[in-house]
Amino acid sequence: MNAVTYLESLTHRVLAGEAIDEDDACWLAGAGPDLLDDLLAGAAAIRWRFKGQKVELCSIINAKSGACSEDCGFCSQSVHHQTNVPEYPLMGFEPIERGAREAAGWGVARFGMVMAIRGLREGPELETVLAHIRRLQAAGEIIPDASLGLLTRPIARKLKEAGLQGYHHNLETSRSFYDTVCTTHSYEERVETVRIAKETGFYTCSGGIIGMGETPEQRVELAFTLRDLEVDSIPLNFLVPYPGTPMEDLEPLPVWEMLATIAMFRFVHATKDLRICGGREARLGPAQERIFEAGANGTMIGNYLTTIGREPAQDLTMIRQLGMTL
Ligand code: SF4
Repeated sequence: MNAVTYLESLTHRVLAGEAIDEDDACWLAGAGPDLLDDLLAGAAAIRWRFKGQKVELCSIINAKSGACSEDCGFCSQSVHHQTNVPEYPLMGFEPIERGAREAAGWGVARFGMVMAIRGLREGPELETVLAHIRRLQAAGEIIPDASLGLLTRPIARKLKEAGLQGYHHNLETSRSFYDTVCTTHSYEERVETVRIAKETGFYTCSGGIIGMGETPEQRVELAFTLRDLEVDSIPLNFLVPYPGTPMEDLEPLPVWEMLATIAMFRFVHATKDLRICGGREARLGPAQERIFEAGANGTMIGNYLTTIGREPAQDLTMIRQLGMTL
């Protein structure tokens, strides 16, 4: 069977509801630039079959920035790296409410409150977070999500009772590459947080960052760990190296490889939400117009944690011009 015929047979299998295995996904990840258009055609057909033309939008606010105790090598907010990101404690409700209202006005469905922390503990900070969630939920303008680091079951329960709907916690990369990325908490702790989020009944959003030096096979490994965890949403980010972090000198991946990675994730996660987040503008450039063709059905708009996104109006125009709906 030649490569195009094999790709078509994999596409038909996924369209028929079958799951591909890791060998198939490694073959997709290694298919190379010559096969890119065929790969994207397959991913687009799968996205169309299971997710239609609707684009899921989300937006975040960096509610507590910098001075994080952890040493994630990509992160500008770690206390271990010398960067120029602003440091501030947990915000009051006003700027969060303003951010949520603005995002709702863009047509965003989910709004995530993000804190640069290892994880929440019992105490006044947790009480403030719970109060913010209650107020966001009561306002009813947007679905309140959060990304608050590692979870424990009692804290997850409190967040749920306050009205939190979704929990975001990336695995960041594959288990086999993780030690290169972070040493202050383990991969298993990340996996356990995702399990707790699922168990608690949150819409569970977990993905990673592509382009930190991992191999295509390790991207497949990440995709399958996420499949085993049955996450609801997979955010893919493309590394934008931040000055002062250990990854500041990493070269960007070729654009075709980023698009091929999105497509591979769509083949593995046929029915899930696949969102393109950090690095969309900075790394894909004009090729960001191909993320939906590559299989994504969602994206983040507005600003990222420590970098500025482009104007939301430009993203909304792009979505409409591509024939996608909101
Ligand atoms: S735990 Fe989160 S905020 Fe802290 S260094 Fe890692 S990625 Fe950055």
